[in-house]
Amino acid sequence: MVGNMEGLILQSMQRYNILPITSRCDSYCIFCSHHQNPPEVQTYSFGHRKYEDIIASLEYLDARKKIVIGESATKLIEGEPFLHPDFLDILKALRERFPKTQVSITTNGNFLHNDVVRSLKNLEPLEINLSLNAITPQNRRKLMGKRARDMEPVLKSFKKEGLVYHGSLVALPWLTGWEEITSTIESLQENNSSTVRVFLPGYTKLAAQEMQFPLNLWDDLDSFIKELRKKFQIPISLEPPRIKNLSSEITGVIKDSPAWKAGLKEGDIILRVNDNPVFFRVEAFQNVKKLSRMYLKINRAGQEMNLELQKEKDEAPGFVMDYDMAPETIDDILEIISRYRPERVLVLASYLGYQVLQKALEQYIPEGVKLYIQPVRNEFFGGSIMAAGLLVVEDFKVALREWNYNHSEKIELILLPAAAFDHTGRDLTGTSYWEIADYTDCPIVVI
Ligand code: SF4
Repeated sequence: MVGNMEGLILQSMQRYNILPITSRCDSYCIFCSHHQNPPEVQTYSFGHRKYEDIIASLEYLDARKKIVIGESATKLIEGEPFLHPDFLDILKALRERFPKTQVSITTNGNFLHNDVVRSLKNLEPLEINLSLNAITPQNRRKLMGKRARDMEPVLKSFKKEGLVYHGSLVALPWLTGWEEITSTIESLQENNSSTVRVFLPGYTKLAAQEMQFPLNLWDDLDSFIKELRKKFQIPISLEPPRIKNLSSEITGVIKDSPAWKAGLKEGDIILRVNDNPVFFRVEAFQNVKKLSRMYLKINRAGQEMNLELQKEKDEAPGFVMDYDMAPETIDDILEIISRYRPERVLVLASYLGYQVLQKALEQYIPEGVKLYIQPVRNEFFGGSIMAAGLLVVEDFKVALREWNYNHSEKIELILLPAAAFDHTGRDLTGTSYWEIADYTDCPIVVI
């Protein structure tokens, strides 16, 4: 177990540039996934890592990429970093070793007293992701447990020190009222938060009754957030996004950012970056990010126009877009297809992502290759869960059995989403994707 844990910590650092600090948390959020997981899910709690161990492991981080603290990309449980007694010293050591690298910290804010916020100001460039959830103290305690602090003074302190931060909330309007979402966003805007991320709530089949809701709530939230975007200037993103198309549409623009100065607005669709056409959001964002000075052709409410955008190379442009499709995923799929040369490909995808994936692949798939996309139900987690990262081998087996039952076409290649597997090809229960091979005689590739 210890060897496995150390392996996961190093994997987290080397593959994702995530620095694990602690698995402990002082809060008890009713939406926290750790309270809803089926018992077969393999997660690893590592308590507080020792200061010496953390410092000794810094060599595994990449100075060229953002260093992330408080988020998990592996089976490690990430807790509240500021709960670690040495966290500020760890940050100072990190800053000494990586003087210019941006460090992103996700925190519930309970430990952010004025002196801590002042210390953080001296450790920039930082990006603080504040899990606010509710600005009204009683609603915050209702969602996050009795230790949840009043966040108004923390926001004021961030504003006073001029710290770069982003606020987030899991939207649970049946518990807090819709007005709580509006006032939380209002407070973040007033206190100079760069953006707000609103997370759609989710629940598994093991969630407490109070966490369960009718799924049309997601559509209601989508409409509600669209209305709030008209009311507030701060960019408000809804995650996971409710998008079904490929279009380089801007969701919001951060005040005083390069995109703001260039005159970009919410709702603009980027058509070209210099002379290069762009078709989807992540592609547009990446193309703009890597340049310093460029012309953008945009569509604003049906009118095409050109804008000039200037910034540092690799600096974030300051507009916010929903995440649709990584260009690398399309490149990888095309490369696999050119390697295997199949006539018929079956892609097993999540319910959340399959429509966008279908649109992207229809556009790029080589002639002569027939593509089938089968959405896979998250039976294992159940409830409202529909994400690729929470699919397990058993879900893929069920989907493949159903597909075989309903189709007679001979498939020559099956693609599975990489988000469902770790680097050894195992799902969240530790089952290898090779078990799916019992249901087919064609190659299976995780992409
Ligand atoms: S702050 Fe995060 S880790 Fe802690 S209980 Fe809430 S959701 Fe879970």
